[in-house]
Amino acid sequence: MRVAVVGLGTAGAATAALLFDRGHDVVVLEQADDPRPVGAGIWLQALGQQVLDRLDLLEPMRAASRVVSRVRMEGRGGRRLLDLGYDARPASTPALGVHRGDLFALLFGAVRARGIPLELGARVTAVEPRTGGIAVTVADPGGPDARDLGRFDLVVGADGTRSEVRAALGLGHRDRAYRYGALWAIVPDPDGLTSDTLHQRFDGTRRTLGVLPTGADRASIFWSLRTDRHAAALAAGVERWRADARAMAGPYAPLVDAVEELLPATYRAVSVRSSYRVGGGGAGVLVGDAAHAMSPQLGAGSSLALADAWTLAVALERGGSLAERLEWYDDQRRAHVRWYRWWTRAMMPLFQSDLTPLGPPRDALLPVVGWVPGMPRVMAGTLTGDRRSLRRTWRLP
Ligand SMILES: Cc1cc2nc3c(=O)[nH]c(=O)nc-3n(C[C@H](O)[C@H](O)[C@H](O)COP(=O)(O)OP(=O)(O)OC[C@H]3O[C@@H](n4cnc5c(N)ncnc54)[C@H](O)[C@@H]3O)c2cc1C
Repeated sequence: MRVAVVGLGTAGAATAALLFDRGHDVVVLEQADDPRPVGAGIWLQALGQQVLDRLDLLEPMRAASRVVSRVRMEGRGGRRLLDLGYDARPASTPALGVHRGDLFALLFGAVRARGIPLELGARVTAVEPRTGGIAVTVADPGGPDARDLGRFDLVVGADGTRSEVRAALGLGHRDRAYRYGALWAIVPDPDGLTSDTLHQRFDGTRRTLGVLPTGADRASIFWSLRTDRHAAALAAGVERWRADARAMAGPYAPLVDAVEELLPATYRAVSVRSSYRVGGGGAGVLVGDAAHAMSPQLGAGSSLALADAWTLAVALERGGSLAERLEWYDDQRRAHVRWYRWWTRAMMPLFQSDLTPLGPPRDALLPVVGWVPGMPRVMAGTLTGDRRSLRRTWRLP
């Protein structure tokens, strides 16, 4: 098939490589002129690692990462609320603490190594089912004219949270900005202070300091903050922030002291009625954040994006019409994504909101949850990316 992949993020780069390897005629369209390895540390779960393995990228990813095998949550004074090891689920693979830029560099390298045609500075502005396929139009930023790229059998919308492809195909159901986001920074961690643990300390529901091992010798710091306060906090400067953050840093104070610059991050909740639309002899389909952006509470976004890419590649190899194959893709992904969407939505008011009365009961309940028989196993399984419900697991097809 002639396939246009819109967006060169995690989802787009993986989809392009997997479809190219299966003989499709793929072109990638990316709005950035010069896509670069930027961003904070992310927490890459076993599910995402499995897809990287199928792209022969897991070993280099491991070499650039640190194993994260525990999640520790504490109250303001350092009282332990939850200490969950991935080993609560037998034989589970721990996460990797990865610099988003390293993940991007590997996936971009995979696209380049295959010689997949790539148009940079190409912002997709229209995607329309027409006779003979799906028509794609791009505008070069700064350039006056839109260009018609012709007809494709399949357009893959991998264009992230604010997807143009989703809007153009009328697939959106819900798209809402969260009131809370974060300020983040990457700092050196040459002595491995963060060890193998994602550490989060809460002060009610309004403040959280998160520390994540990131790559071999770095750490990421996350400071939860309402998005309408980002500008003021950034204008007040790092020293002002450090005074607040230090009070919650405990043993991680040297990492807080090492912060030189803070950057803002915002989150959206996106869901779709269906992830595809067929028309005019072609189809459009969504992968990654374009289909299901969510808050990063469970560190699931990249793994879900990689799982979408793999599942779509498998779906397109099946028999039947294109509509039947995309229906199978949608069906495979629906329950799995719903589980993560549901949990991240449920966690947001408890961990990042103005609902301060929820703080004390949360702090009272979290230690108990860790003792409920079977619960640590379900929680660890959810983190690895393998759940679709309390009882059922999900595996890559
Ligand atoms: C603060 C923060 C922390 C996170 N932490 C984690 C974590 O710990 N673990 C985890 O797994 N996930 C995490 N995530 C989520 C994760 O980053 C995303 O889920 C993942 O990157 C999804 O990638 P994507 O390819 O769908 O979208 P993106 O990475 O956003 O890529 C979309 C691409 O499309 C391009 N594009 C957009 N519009 C157009 C257009 N019209 N035409 C052409 N190109 C276009 C963009 O330039 C971009 O390159 C976090 C997210 C945030 C914000």
